[in-house]
Amino acid sequence: MTKTKGQIGVTTENIFPVIKKFLYSDHEIFLRELVANAVDATQKLGAIAGKGEFKGEMGDTTIRIEANEKKNILTITDRGIGMTAEEIDKYINQIAFSSAGEFLEKYKDQIDSIIGHFGLGFYSAFMVSKKVEIESLSYKEGSKGVKWSCDGSPEFTMEECKKDDRGTKITLYLDDDSKEFSAKQKVEELLNKYCKFMPVKIAFGKDIINDSEPLWAKTPSEIKDEEYLDFYRKLYPMKEDPLFWIHLNVDYPFNLTGILYFPKIKDRMDISKDRIQLYCNQMFVTDQVENIVPEFLTLLYGVIDSPDIPLNVSRSYLQADANVKKISTYITKKVADRLEEISKEKKEEFESKWDNLKLFIEYGMLTDEKFCERALKFALFKTTDGKYLNYDDYNKLIEKEQKDKDKKIVYLYATDAVAQYQYIEAAKNKGYQVLLFDSQLDAHFVNLLETKIKDSKFARVDSDSIENLIKKEDSKKPELKEGEELDLEYAFAAVLPEEGRYTLQAENMGENGAPLLITQNEFMRRYKEMSSLGGGLNFYGEMPDSYTLKLNVENPLVKQIIKQKDEATETKANDLKAQIANVKDALDLIDKDTKNKKDEDIPQEMKDKRTKLNSTLTSLQDQKRDLMRDFGRGNTLLKQISDLALLANGMLKGKQLSDFVSRSLSLLK
Ligand code: ADP
Repeated sequence: MTKTKGQIGVTTENIFPVIKKFLYSDHEIFLRELVANAVDATQKLGAIAGKGEFKGEMGDTTIRIEANEKKNILTITDRGIGMTAEEIDKYINQIAFSSAGEFLEKYKDQIDSIIGHFGLGFYSAFMVSKKVEIESLSYKEGSKGVKWSCDGSPEFTMEECKKDDRGTKITLYLDDDSKEFSAKQKVEELLNKYCKFMPVKIAFGKDIINDSEPLWAKTPSEIKDEEYLDFYRKLYPMKEDPLFWIHLNVDYPFNLTGILYFPKIKDRMDISKDRIQLYCNQMFVTDQVENIVPEFLTLLYGVIDSPDIPLNVSRSYLQADANVKKISTYITKKVADRLEEISKEKKEEFESKWDNLKLFIEYGMLTDEKFCERALKFALFKTTDGKYLNYDDYNKLIEKEQKDKDKKIVYLYATDAVAQYQYIEAAKNKGYQVLLFDSQLDAHFVNLLETKIKDSKFARVDSDSIENLIKKEDSKKPELKEGEELDLEYAFAAVLPEEGRYTLQAENMGENGAPLLITQNEFMRRYKEMSSLGGGLNFYGEMPDSYTLKLNVENPLVKQIIKQKDEATETKANDLKAQIANVKDALDLIDKDTKNKKDEDIPQEMKDKRTKLNSTLTSLQDQKRDLMRDFGRGNTLLKQISDLALLANGMLKGKQLSDFVSRSLSLLK
C-alpha cells in the first residue's frame, strides 16, 4: 500500500472547531470514548473466537494506557480485533462523519450528549489533540499493519506500517492547552472516574486500574453480605456503612442491573444527590440521574447499569422516554418490595434502623404517589416512649382510647420530647400514646398522613388542652360573668411578652389540671412551619406567632385570682360597666333612628352626638382594659402562674426569667 492522502468524509468543513468549541466543558470524556472503543474491539475478538472464527491465541488482552508528560503524548493500546486499511477507511474516514456535520449544526447545544451515539467517539480525541495517529493490525489472517494520521484538519494520511502485535494503538499528540491529560495524576483520576468497572482489564503503567467483574454484574444469590459492604466501601470510602441494599437484576422488558444502597440519613446535611452512578455496559456515564429515577431515589447510593437508557439525548427527552419510565417504575417498585420484605422478615433490625431510614421514606412518600401507597404498609411510627409500630398496629393501639366524639381518631404527636414534656405527660396520664415527629419533613408529612389515614386527625400535644385535643363529649362552657373572659385576657396578656398576641379562653380542665396553658393553634403552626420549609405558603410564614391562653377555671389558684380580681376591681369595673352599657344603649337608639336613612338625611346634630358617644365608649373601654392590666401587673399569683406557663413552653427568657427567679425566691421567704 502506498501512502494515501484524503479528506475525511465530513459534510461540514469545520467539524473540528465545532467539536472543540462545544465540548469544551467535557473534554475529558475523550478518554472514556477511546478506552470504550478498545474494550469493544477486545470483546468483539472474544465473540469471534467464541464462534470459532478466530483460531489464534487471544493472549493477554489487557488494554494499556501510557502517558508521557514530557512529550505531551497519551497512548491507548488494545489487543482487540484491529482494523484493516479498508476498515479504517470505512469506519474512521467515512461512516463516522456521514451526516454528522449537519447534525452538529442543528444540535449544537446537546452536542456532548451526542458523542458516541453518532460514531463521534473516536473523534472526541481531537478535542484535546493536535494530531492523532492510529496504528492497527487486524486479527484477520494475512493482514498488514496500517497507520493513519490526522492533524485536526479534515485531511488524513494513511500508509502501511510495521506492526507485529494484533490490535490498535491510538497515539494522541496533545494540544498545548490540554497538557494536563498527559499528567499521571490526571489520567489516573479520569480512568478511575470513567473506566473503573469496564469489562476488560486496563493497565495504566504497571497497575491494573479497573475491576472488570464488578459486583453488580454477578449473580445475587452467590454474593455474601460482606461483599456488598466491601463494594460500598470501595465506592464511597468516606461514608458510614449503609443500612440495607438491593440488587437489581432484570433482562425483560429491558436490561438493567445494579446495586442500590440505603445510606444513613440523619438530617438534611446528609442529603446529596450525586451518589448513584449510571453505567452503560460497565462504562461510567454520569452521576446525575435525576431524570432516570424518581427524585427521592436519588438519595440512595450505588450503581445502575443499563444499555437501555438512551444516553445521548436531552434531559427533557429522557423524561418522556418510555423505557426510562418503565425503568423508573421498576426501580421504585423494587425499592418498595425490598423495604416491605425487610420490615417483615427482619422486623427488629428494621426498627433499629428506622431513625436513619425515616427521612428517606418520608421524602419518598411525600414526593411519589406510588411509593407512598406501598410505604403506608411498612413505614413506622415512633412513640415518645421509643416504641416503633407500623401504621396498622399503631392504629389498633389507639383506635378505642383516642377516638373523639366525632369518631375521628386523634393522632397526638410531639416534635420535641423535652420541650413538650408537660403536654406529653398530660396525654399519657389520660392513657394516650404520643408520637415523636422530630424530623425536618414532618410538618409536611403530617398533612400527608391526614389525607392517607382514614378518619384521622393529627394534633401536636401542645396545641390545646388534652381535653380539647380529644374531645369526648361536648364539654360545658365554664361559667363566667359577662365580659369576664376578656377582662382576664387583658390581665394575663399584660404580664406576658408581646402583649398583643394572646387570646384567652376559659376552660374546665379539672381541679388538678394546670392553671394556665399557652397553646398554639395546630393549623396555624403547621402552615407556618411548612412555609418556612418552602412550599408557597409565604403568607403564613410572615404571620407573627399567636397564642391561646387556656385558663383552667376549675383550678383553685385560678379561682383565687378571679376572686382577687373581683375584690380589687369590682366597684370600679361595675361602674365602668354601667357607663359602657349606657353609652351603648344611647348608640343603639341612634342606630335605630338612622337605620334606613341616607347620610345626607341624618341631621348634623345627631351625627355629632354619635361621634361623641363613640369616643366616650372607646375611652371607657380603654379605662376598663387599663384597670385589668393594672390588676394583672400588680398580682403576684397571676404573674407567677403566667411565668410558670411560659416556663413550661420554654418561652420564659431574659428579664422576665430573672424577675421570675427573684419573685419565686421572695415567695419562699
Ligand atoms: P462508535 O464506537 O460509536 O462506533 P467511533 O468513532 O468511536 O464510533 O468508532 C468508529 C468505529 O471505528 C468503531 O465502530 C469501530 O468499528 C472502529 N474502531 C474504533 N476504535 C477501534 C479500536 N480500538 N479497535 C478496532 N476498531 C475500532
